[in-house]
Amino acid sequence: MTDTERATDGAVAAAGAHSAHNYHPLPVVVASAEGAWVTDIEGRRYLDLLAGYSALNFGHRHPGLIAAAKDQLDRVTLTSRAFHHDRFGAFCAELAELCGMETVLPMNTGAEAVETAVKTARKWGYRVKGVPDGRARIVVADNNFHGRTTTIVSFSTDPEARADFGPYTPGFEIVPYGDLAALERAVDEDTVAVLLEPIQGEAGVLVPPPGYLAGVRELTRARNVLFMADEIQSGLGRTGATFACAHEGVVPDVYVLGKALGGGVVPVSAVVSSREVLGVFRPGEHGSTFGGNPLACAVGLKVIELLRTGEYQRRAAELGEHLHAELRLLVGDGAVTAVRGRGLWAGVDVDPALGTGRQVSERLLERGVLVKDTHGATIRIAPPLVVGKEDLDWALDQLRAVLRG
Ligand SMILES: *Cc1c(COP(=O)(O)O)cnc(C)c1O
Repeated sequence: MTDTERATDGAVAAAGAHSAHNYHPLPVVVASAEGAWVTDIEGRRYLDLLAGYSALNFGHRHPGLIAAAKDQLDRVTLTSRAFHHDRFGAFCAELAELCGMETVLPMNTGAEAVETAVKTARKWGYRVKGVPDGRARIVVADNNFHGRTTTIVSFSTDPEARADFGPYTPGFEIVPYGDLAALERAVDEDTVAVLLEPIQGEAGVLVPPPGYLAGVRELTRARNVLFMADEIQSGLGRTGATFACAHEGVVPDVYVLGKALGGGVVPVSAVVSSREVLGVFRPGEHGSTFGGNPLACAVGLKVIELLRTGEYQRRAAELGEHLHAELRLLVGDGAVTAVRGRGLWAGVDVDPALGTGRQVSERLLERGVLVKDTHGATIRIAPPLVVGKEDLDWALDQLRAVLRG
């Protein structure tokens, strides 16, 4: 064993010694990163095909984002919402415009934004729709992933995410993802919202059948129900469009955003909707100490500016087409049983005979490629949108080599 290998083992052991074991990281200890590449404490480089679960859509340490953050660090970082600050108005206005909406409610993590959307829908239901007190229901899909709070895991169908965390929050109805008829049956006069991921990320990058999102849009409009799209992972360029809903020409009532909105620098999330919907909140009824802080707004403003260029969406669309064409060839070879996704986002089902998703991830790690398995034999490929085509092709070579065994 070399000294540097001992360095990794030591750092892995130190990380495990005093931390709760709620993650099972791959044995790589990152020390620095730039663009689509990270470097470990032994100086080995890896191409990052996870991109912080899409929190790093613009790559590690995008120069524009780092400059915006540094500039803000030299001015003011936190005021709390007890006072105004000079970045807040611009951030909300520009995010609303990017979304084609009117009103923004900024939070920090994705789960907080989902919680905010749930509270928004319930209040809207009672105050605007006229649902009798305590009866509001929200329809969600099976295999969803919306975060980790007690309310959110209450409507998860993943035993790992849910078991032993009850008692569970009532008021949610779960229907099969992609099944419009089931959704229609589940909606009644007390339904205030349908909450869906336009593509289910954690479930294995599941794309719903064509027409589903448009059907959900039509149904929710006809039945006076809010369509809330959780675009935390699918949004902000990943699929080749600013929002995954746009691939079906769909505009929901509520966007739930997070991950890439913080540019891989700070946690930034938001609920974005109309004045009518988000107008249900009065001072004191909802909030967050850090939500909409100056540093978050400065970074978020830069993220919006990057997205306005269209360059990242274009890259995701073009490189994504290439990625999916290459991955489909692997299905033909038999090593891969299915490939799903859109843009620079793919769920690859590996033939279980070749190993678990975890084993494939470990073999890719040895070859300098970072991926993460999700649910059994599925690996997820979601590089930063700044990844170079040659780098992506090199990573595909490594994947082919691993699958050849
Ligand atoms: C990651 C994710 C969340 C939760 O975001 P956190 O920042 O981890 O709380 C919610 N919804 C979707 C679709 C996600 O991918």
